[in-house]
Amino acid sequence: MTTPKPPCFPRFENWAEKSLLDLDTARRQGTKIAGVFCTYAPLELVRAAGAVPVSLCGKKQEPISAAEKHLPANLCPLIKSSYGYAVTDACPFFAASDFILGETTCDGKKKMFELLQEIKPLHLLHLPYLQDDATALAFWVDQIQRMQTFLEQTTGQRITRDRIQREIHDANRVRRLLKKIAYLASDHPVPLSGLDAMRVFESSSFVVNLPEFAGLLETLVQELTEMKARGVSVCTDDAPRILLTGCPVGKGSDKVLKLIEDSGAVVVCLENCTGFKNFDLLVEETGDPFEALARRYLRTPCSCMTPNQGRFDLISRLTQDFKVQGIVDQTWQCCHTYNVEAHGIKKLAEQTLKVPFLHIETDYSESDTEQLRTRIEAFLEVVEMN
Ligand code: SF4
Ligand code: SF4
Repeated sequence: MTTPKPPCFPRFENWAEKSLLDLDTARRQGTKIAGVFCTYAPLELVRAAGAVPVSLCGKKQEPISAAEKHLPANLCPLIKSSYGYAVTDACPFFAASDFILGETTCDGKKKMFELLQEIKPLHLLHLPYLQDDATALAFWVDQIQRMQTFLEQTTGQRITRDRIQREIHDANRVRRLLKKIAYLASDHPVPLSGLDAMRVFESSSFVVNLPEFAGLLETLVQELTEMKARGVSVCTDDAPRILLTGCPVGKGSDKVLKLIEDSGAVVVCLENCTGFKNFDLLVEETGDPFEALARRYLRTPCSCMTPNQGRFDLISRLTQDFKVQGIVDQTWQCCHTYNVEAHGIKKLAEQTLKVPFLHIETDYSESDTEQLRTRIEAFLEVVEMN
């Protein structure tokens, strides 16, 4: 669908290109670039070391065949795409990275990092798998401090507490703005489609200058607020309001999101790591900054945690806040943790929240597009009847 766009929107559409130019300038001035793969990586610490974090999550199908020369075909497409980009040297962000921060989230990624460290220097963050436990927090604080040592050695810059505090403040400002933008879709009119919101959220993973990016987000908030006040909407007031949850999605791996919106519904809320999982939680700005970072990042409601009550709570809250009429759980093939968790999310949606639920398991290829379109259209009919 063609949707109204705020005047500043082209700047988000061209963000990757701008970001590459900024990275190039930064590198020439001696700044180190850190490639990251996950929402658990405490980016404030990277910035406090004077480095710039960029996301290296593969979202396209093209590099997958190269990855399958080393990795099993029955592995999640996100891992295969990310690794494929690395071995083919086809991603400019990977090429620009001086080192990689990996994390032990799911088994596939963990093992992929063992291979990746042969290509680039890599520091691995070991994650505890439970969240509400003092020993887990102490373990994670220690991991963050080990990351500090690695960053200081690699960048040659000392990470001071003041510097972390400053970075926490700037990152929280960006999170608040992203959340504000997301919440503009919490009632009708909806001034930004789910697809365009995803583009904005995604651009936050390629930022060299955080305060400058925050300024652009402020402009977007202002423009969207004006559009909303004028009644400009990307959808009719009876368009089914969908919450998309599950594995991360992005430009290139957004076919389900597109199909939902092409079928006349609107994705008012992205709960996954492209959306709320990334910006819902703030870091406390007082007290010990290492502990504050550890507390916040450990609470990320990813299915690699067990139990993962935070995701159930977040979906429940967002369903209410966004007046959600249907929940779509989109998981990548062979992502065991999210695919298993789909069972519990279905129960939550149908039995507790009383909202129709659709689980889609797919990959990055286009081979199932028409089949998915039929399933999504049928699901939206159920939503409309509900
Ligand atoms: S879904 Fe989990 S493993 Fe994947 S990026 Fe998000 S936090 Fe990391
Ligand atoms: S989508 Fe699932 S399997 Fe793939 S990297 Fe994320 S958690 Fe791991």
